[in-house]
Amino acid sequence: MNADPRRRVPRTDAVLADPRLRDAATRLDPAAVKDAVRAAQQQARDGAIAPEAVADHAVAALPRPSSTRAVINATGVVLHTNLGRAPLSPAAVEAMITASGSTDVEFDLTTGQRARRGRGALAALAAAVPAAEEVAVVNNGAAALLLATTTLAAGREVIISRGELVEIGDGFRLPDLITSAGARLREVGTTNRTTFADYADAIGPETAAMLKIHPSNFVITGFTAGVGVADLARLGPPVITDIGSGLLAPDPLLPDEPDADTALRAGAAVITASGDKLLGGPQAGLLLGRAEVVDRLRRHPMARALRVDKLTLAALEATLRGPLTPTWAALRADAALLRTRAEAVVAAVGADAVVVPSDGVVGGGGAPGLTLPGWAVALPEDHAVALRTGEPPVVGRVERGRCLLDLRCVPPERDAELIAAVRAAGVATGTDRD
Ligand SMILES: *Cc1c(COP(=O)(O)O)cnc(C)c1O
Repeated sequence: MNADPRRRVPRTDAVLADPRLRDAATRLDPAAVKDAVRAAQQQARDGAIAPEAVADHAVAALPRPSSTRAVINATGVVLHTNLGRAPLSPAAVEAMITASGSTDVEFDLTTGQRARRGRGALAALAAAVPAAEEVAVVNNGAAALLLATTTLAAGREVIISRGELVEIGDGFRLPDLITSAGARLREVGTTNRTTFADYADAIGPETAAMLKIHPSNFVITGFTAGVGVADLARLGPPVITDIGSGLLAPDPLLPDEPDADTALRAGAAVITASGDKLLGGPQAGLLLGRAEVVDRLRRHPMARALRVDKLTLAALEATLRGPLTPTWAALRADAALLRTRAEAVVAAVGADAVVVPSDGVVGGGGAPGLTLPGWAVALPEDHAVALRTGEPPVVGRVERGRCLLDLRCVPPERDAELIAAVRAAGVATGTDRD
């Protein structure tokens, strides 16, 4: 070493002039950018990095604007609640960016007057489900159910089958949500069987509504009986139907999944659903139904507390009007194509990897019991941690001593990234590993 490296460490101003750091200072806290530069300068003074590398190291050490990390979902679970459920379509992302500044979300540019909030999203939702006379959007599916039961049944009774008392996840149970809305549950039938007479006999002066909840995350098979919306609707009290997933119309891929259009045609007064399940959009709660019922919900004071933000409205409209969502691309992924892609990944990463059949699932409280046949790359189980903690993080499915990377939910254009991540995680041919 000829010169003292400390004397060659660039000055803070000079490093901050790097375009990447100048740009970062407009997006991040400028003090945080300076801290990253000072830390890199210190490393250079200590001789840990070359003085010429100070800017590069500062860039690499910049804090992220958000601690949320984008991950590759290689679980084969299309709507993975822990991974944020539905990934948004490019159209929805673009709409959110447009909506992120000042917008006309609640303003009519022609008249200069206040306008109905989110009218574009509401019109798109109404157009997608012709059987709905009126629609509304709230924060999520649980909020939609809360608003419907509070408005229609606070202080009175809601009749529900014992086979539909669902825990949706993370310890949250829909019966508790309904009682927290001030309604009393009138449970009828048994876990496996509930008949028309059970409902009919329970109706009395205290009955405000009947509730059908789709058991979206479990299946009861065997000696079972249930009552459909059409029969319940004949009994008189309004039928609230929580379909769960937000499927708007029947789909042959998911024959047992209830949809909004069918439930409304069968006579439901209002249906509630999620925006970020099978609709493939942002987190939202959808309410569709008879005009007088949905209007009452919209005017309830609680509706204001459950209001959805402008970014969600923009993404929802773009999802409804846009092309195939990533969720449906994953659901419909062709098995033969998944196999070809898995083989290409194995060929690229080497000996420790093999292609195996893999069943995907819908997940996220939709189509329980349904499997989506496909293919995965199987690696030794101990690669799972390195894959999760790499960049980008890859989340696979650990099963019977192996880490499976199911390609169903990985967009094909990200296969190269996946291959690089697998290589970085230490999967390679025997020779490369030494
Ligand atoms: C998922 C689900 C909910 C809750 O919806 P969120 O959008 O997660 O609040 C309620 N009911 C059923 C049947 C569901 O599947």
